[in-house]
Amino acid sequence: MSSEPMNQAGSPAAPHPAARALVIVDVQNDFCEGGSLAVAGGSVVATAIAEDLLARRASYSVVVATQDWHIDPGSHFSETPDFVEAWPVHCVAGSDGAALHPNLAPAVHLVDAAFRKGRFAAAYSGFEGRLALAGAGDDDESGPLLGDWLRDQGITAVDVVGIAADHCVRATALDARKLGFNTTVITPLTASVNPANNAAVFAELRAAGVTVLSLG
Ligand SMILES: [Zn+2]
Repeated sequence: MSSEPMNQAGSPAAPHPAARALVIVDVQNDFCEGGSLAVAGGSVVATAIAEDLLARRASYSVVVATQDWHIDPGSHFSETPDFVEAWPVHCVAGSDGAALHPNLAPAVHLVDAAFRKGRFAAAYSGFEGRLALAGAGDDDESGPLLGDWLRDQGITAVDVVGIAADHCVRATALDARKLGFNTTVITPLTASVNPANNAAVFAELRAAGVTVLSLG
């Protein structure tokens, strides 16, 4: 089994002055329109992230994507979901639903590495994700955790975008702060399961020291 990352683009390169990473959270087919757990606006956000990345790739030392990647996540899946802690079946490892959304495709070559989470339990934060290793099985958990990998790249700041602002983006940003990264959520590049949650979620993030950026 190879121990090489999927892609070497983010490996020991010259330090970037900004030492900033873009973390694209869970922009996957099942979380976009037509998916099993569709978030309204998901596909539009996928397009917007791709356009932003094409325009601003040079702002980042590294760009990573996280993927919900479920094999047997227990009570995270339910036939009677409450859409809070129990959800319809989604993002089954290796399925089309778990693949990155095609609207990201124009910029996917600018993504250095994928980190997968939730194989055997719910995992909302991208920092629970481990690097997807080339040639490894869907259940492989031998890759480094996202936070360790970012530190190894010399990253000190992260921008977080993706789906969903009120769940996995929130959890990822809170973990980024806990791990000491200077953390920004770019809200126009997020979509929410329940937009009515946004004010409370963004207030919680700000209280935790996250910069909540709205461009409009
Ligand atoms: Zn999940």
